[in-house]
Amino acid sequence: MTVEGELKLLMVAAPGGGKGTQGERLAAKFGIQHVSSGEVLRAEASAGTPAGREVAAYQQRGDLVPDQIVFDLLTPVVTAAVARGGYVLDGFPRTLPQAITAADIGRRLDVILDAVVYLNVPEPVLTQRLLARARADDTAEVIGHRLRVFAEATRPLIDYYRDRGILVEVDGDQPPDSITADIVARLPPR
Ligand code: ADP
Repeated sequence: MTVEGELKLLMVAAPGGGKGTQGERLAAKFGIQHVSSGEVLRAEASAGTPAGREVAAYQQRGDLVPDQIVFDLLTPVVTAAVARGGYVLDGFPRTLPQAITAADIGRRLDVILDAVVYLNVPEPVLTQRLLARARADDTAEVIGHRLRVFAEATRPLIDYYRDRGILVEVDGDQPPDSITADIVARLPPR
């Protein structure tokens, strides 16, 4: 079933947490655009532009791409999605400074996030899933680093959005259909 309408969601999860899979499902269900920061950045890296070459180096190490590059590449994509009636942001904002800047931009454009979905998955499950996936940045060493980056840089977002009353925390260690059902049941009424 597709339910049309303005809805603005943010997915937060550790690497391997399933935010890409669930983000795509929610976007399809609600007829809104799925915006994956990782994919936007990987596309730029593949294009081999000067910014893309920089992006590739950070991604290969499992480090966060500098904010300036992230905002330059993501702002136009997110703005276009707003004009088309909503989005599921997957992976951006990913740090407290990014969230604060994004909220400032949002206030100026009169754009408000409806909910932030946090998929909670135990670390051993994350590592297992990532090793099975084997993307270029899914080597054991880089995975360990990305999990530490998540704990330090992204985890603070969970309290930030909980304090704002928009956090929807879901058990991400279930079959994909059950996770989707849990999220949909707990989204704010529209
Ligand atoms: P995962 O969540 O499995 O790490 P993503 O595709 O979301 O996969 O991200 C892959 C990489 O892209 C990250 O390790 C990071 O280098 C970069 N990246 C994605 N989103 C951001 C962001 N908002 N800020 C900085 N770097 C980002």
